[in-house]
Amino acid sequence: MRGRVRGWAMRHCDAQHPPLPRLGSVPELPEVEALAQDLRRRLVGRAISRVDLTAFSALKTFDPPLQALHGTLVDDVTRHGKFLDIDASGVHLVIHLARAGWIRWRDEVPDLPARPNPKNPLAARVVIDDPDLEAQPGLDITEAGTKKGLAIYVVRDPQEVEGIARLGPDPLSDDFTIDVLRQILEAEGRKQVKGVMRMQSIIAGIGNAYSDEILHAARMSPFKPANSLDATELQTLYDAVRRTLGDAVQRSAGLAASELKGEKKSNLAVHGRTGQACPVCGDIVREVSFADSSLQYCATCQTGGKPLADRRMSRLLK
Ligand SMILES: [Zn+2]
Repeated sequence: MRGRVRGWAMRHCDAQHPPLPRLGSVPELPEVEALAQDLRRRLVGRAISRVDLTAFSALKTFDPPLQALHGTLVDDVTRHGKFLDIDASGVHLVIHLARAGWIRWRDEVPDLPARPNPKNPLAARVVIDDPDLEAQPGLDITEAGTKKGLAIYVVRDPQEVEGIARLGPDPLSDDFTIDVLRQILEAEGRKQVKGVMRMQSIIAGIGNAYSDEILHAARMSPFKPANSLDATELQTLYDAVRRTLGDAVQRSAGLAASELKGEKKSNLAVHGRTGQACPVCGDIVREVSFADSSLQYCATCQTGGKPLADRRMSRLLK
């Protein structure tokens, strides 16, 4: 039935797998990589019939216009850091999901163009034209909440997107050797390793969650100065980066977009788990809070048993 809204389509949609609740976790390299793989399977070789924009502030470019995508065939879907890149015959639809953005595949979208509706999280809809199907499938790009960070770009070359042009090396690429990591850390001097790992211009794709996880896996304090690692610590951190991200990508591969957030959440050892037991040693996971974020760590595994100073917590406890 063309035009009937069937709701969010999922590959494993049944009573045992209801839609996952929003978990509030920001998509990082493994989730964006899995989204790119999922979309590649669904989109390559198919034509975009139109793109409806409903959150006008999300579109950051004006030339080429959104309409340049209409009627184009999708050649590939890739990832740059945390950016998704849909290459449609040389016109690139680039998406940065930010804090509350997400993508949902629908087996069937309405015939009528989507319209702005403040109550609807839909920011844009990519409608696919498939002559073999009775219904038009599509891709809903959504953003929940009021913190508008979702960004959509239409460009001829992804390097025209400033956030992509200044990305550091991708930590899963072959070019990311232990020497590259050594140079990166030495160049950052006494800055804390946790903050360095999150900077997209230094290393691409790692955010707050996976930097917590990598440092826990490396048994390293998040406050350790970047240039203070000895050769053994450098090797341990390098291995933790590759293994933590590589394992997460492997676990996420093959999952539909709707399943990724639950997968991520259930496999985190310390991030977002304040007060729970560390899966390695059983100590409680502790937290340090900042103005707009917090980090989690295990004192036994990472800081020789000594809790890190948390000014907000100590103020509350006085
Ligand atoms: Zn521990």
